[in-house]
Amino acid sequence: TMRESYSSENDSGFKCLNPQLRPIVIVGGYGQLGQLFQRMFELSGYQVRILGSDDWHRADEILHDAGMVVVSVPIHMTEAIIAKLGQLPPDCILTDLTSVKSGPLQAMLEVHQGPVVGLHPMFGPDIPSLAKQVVVYCDGRQPESYQWLLEQIQIWGASLNRISAIEHDQGMTLIQALRHFTSFVYGVHLAEEDPKIEQLMSLSSPIYRLELAMVGRLFAQDAQLYADIIMSAPQNLAMIKRFHQRFGEAIEMLEHQDKIAFKQAFSQVEHWFGDYAQHFLVESQGLLRQANDSTRR
Ligand code: NAD
Repeated sequence: TMRESYSSENDSGFKCLNPQLRPIVIVGGYGQLGQLFQRMFELSGYQVRILGSDDWHRADEILHDAGMVVVSVPIHMTEAIIAKLGQLPPDCILTDLTSVKSGPLQAMLEVHQGPVVGLHPMFGPDIPSLAKQVVVYCDGRQPESYQWLLEQIQIWGASLNRISAIEHDQGMTLIQALRHFTSFVYGVHLAEEDPKIEQLMSLSSPIYRLELAMVGRLFAQDAQLYADIIMSAPQNLAMIKRFHQRFGEAIEMLEHQDKIAFKQAFSQVEHWFGDYAQHFLVESQGLLRQANDSTRR
């Protein structure tokens, strides 16, 4: 269980790659992701301080000797809070965990003259450990000063992917904004249609149950976070509108009972997926077998 794996990590701890580092300050560190990173840093032997929303009157005292500052606050406040970090020691590393990267990275480079790196952990606070998780990072300034941090994250078990902030945000338009939005709308649709959820479950094939789980899990999380992610960039809305338009075009196909057009579109998509179509069929069979085993308990 989650509790057991945390406590086993607790017992073993992690190797500390930068024992000389002055205290790490996590701005917003009482939040969900901040807590996870506090735990990981402390398990690795670093001294961690939190700068919470009520602590700004003593910010100078908390920040004056910081070796690294990690910003982990609600997305819509991130840039304004970064702008308040103008007095950090020159050699202090400034980093953030925000789900969008261009704006925060730009804000960090503007406010601080020392080392800067943007991080995006591709996971939520509910993971049992960082093993096999992905952390995306965007170089900012003086990469030699924060190589230890990237290696430390790898020691926690995560793998790292480097990308430019712009490419990251473009990718997230599909991977986060559109996907969460379609889950959101599907959830709204279910709630409005109001079927008996037990009956849906009893009629479900494993793949529908998995789909229901993927949608349902969104609504067990923080509405503000998802509103912020979906509305974080104008290109998100443009992407969602293109999706909406294609939905409309596909409905027209149905209205005309146009199975020829349907099959043409189908093979166009099949072609786009290429070898991945077959690969995904096999991969999903494996996942479904696992899902099936774990729900039969
Ligand atoms: P959260 O709401 O749990 O935590 C944010 C914290 O910031 C709260 O404790 C809040 O009190 C604090 N805060 C608000 N205003 C502040 C201020 N002026 N000064 C200092 N602290 C302030 O949110 P979270 O889920 O931990 O998200 C934090 C960051 O992590 C966001 O940038 C988000 O994009 C990123 N992130 C979250 C997830 C996730 O699944 N939760 C995944 C990847 C990245």
